[in-house]
Amino acid sequence: MRQRSFVWHPYTQMSEWDSFPEIVRGDGFWLVDSNGNRYLDGVASMWCNVWGHSKKELVSAISTQSKKIVHSSLFNLTNDQAETLAERLVSVSPGMSRVFYSDNGSTAMEIAFKAAIQYWQNIGQKDKTTFMTLQNGYHGDTFGTMSVGFVPAFFAKFRKNLYKTVQIPFENSYRVRGDYDDYLSQTLENIERQLSKNNNIAAFVMESGAQIAGGVNIYQKNFQSKIGRMCKKHGVLFILDEIATGFGRLGSLVEYVAQGSRPDIVAFGKMLTAGYLPMAATLVTKKIYDSFLSDYYNMKHLYHGHTFTGNTLACAVANRNLEMYKKTGIISKANKTTRHLGSRLGEVAALDGVGDIRHKGMLVAIELVSDKAKKTPMSFTKSANKTVFDEARRHGLYLRTLGNIVMLVPPLAISEKEADFLMDGTIKTIRNVVRRAR
Ligand SMILES: *Cc1c(COP(=O)(O)O)cnc(C)c1O
Repeated sequence: MRQRSFVWHPYTQMSEWDSFPEIVRGDGFWLVDSNGNRYLDGVASMWCNVWGHSKKELVSAISTQSKKIVHSSLFNLTNDQAETLAERLVSVSPGMSRVFYSDNGSTAMEIAFKAAIQYWQNIGQKDKTTFMTLQNGYHGDTFGTMSVGFVPAFFAKFRKNLYKTVQIPFENSYRVRGDYDDYLSQTLENIERQLSKNNNIAAFVMESGAQIAGGVNIYQKNFQSKIGRMCKKHGVLFILDEIATGFGRLGSLVEYVAQGSRPDIVAFGKMLTAGYLPMAATLVTKKIYDSFLSDYYNMKHLYHGHTFTGNTLACAVANRNLEMYKKTGIISKANKTTRHLGSRLGEVAALDGVGDIRHKGMLVAIELVSDKAKKTPMSFTKSANKTVFDEARRHGLYLRTLGNIVMLVPPLAISEKEADFLMDGTIKTIRNVVRRAR
């Protein structure tokens, strides 16, 4: 444990923490701290780790590439790794034609927004500048992404600085009173109505497969594809955020394919580099891309680029990651582990304080409530996150909550044995934190 620290931690009330476990190395699915404590990485190091830490093949891709060149720019140049990766991404993403690189998910979404707005300008429709979204979506922490993915608990303080969007009310099955299928039909009717009413909508933006950071809301079958079809009908672009759900988190390599939908723009991040280096990608269809082509003086090209756009090292590790997906059949293996995880959720549901469990693929959300009938979120002396984290550590787990929701988001490649360790530790953790909160 470090006595003096100069680090300010993300989404953290620093006064709650005397110190943080200091991770000094990874060992497969385990994080090892400076005191030699081992923690199973139950949140895949913020939902991005695929194969565990220090995986030989990925480390070797990084070291091999670093001996050639670490970073070369896409300004006026290209590089072999960025080219190979773009070709691979396009080949697994039906309908997509070009790849724009950035270094994190938030900027990948900003690029999607800028490309959408400029697309309409490029084709002479200057009024289409507003985004329509579902409430409780999350797209990142920059001002543009906070505007579109407005999670009130996170961003209320910045409200005045955010731009206007059309937000469609949307809640998860646990919070909705009455019949959920009716609620979803009404939501879809509302979207249709809003799309007919507003002729200034540039794009409808939503997370693909599930909303996660805004409270874990896993879509019912056909919900996403129906929205996509309405967008097409009303001439509105359909932007999907696959940053958390792409690359197998919910059981499919490309989630929009599983959802039967076809976006105009899609963003990938998190597991793209297996969680080894920061990188994200925004993919667009040929229709979008072609609208940016013209003589230079028409100024139709995209005014966007980052210093590390197309970073060679990050592309190299992403390339190796995608090769490994193909070679190992990891997604069907993960789907087996998923079934095993699922088979143990009954034990969790039976615990005192567990109000709801939402599960798909390698994602489990366990909502803690003080009153199962009233669904009151459980509160603790400290934040739920700090409370759960401290208890989980005692059981050899690294966990993080979203408010009162315990998130299990393990690396895709964990074994059933490790999945059991995760479930056993989670059950003990919940039992103890709930008992103390009573
Ligand atoms: C994490 C996440 C982002 C933002 O990515 P960062 O790399 O953290 O900026 C955007 N959208 C979704 C759905 C995410 O889960």
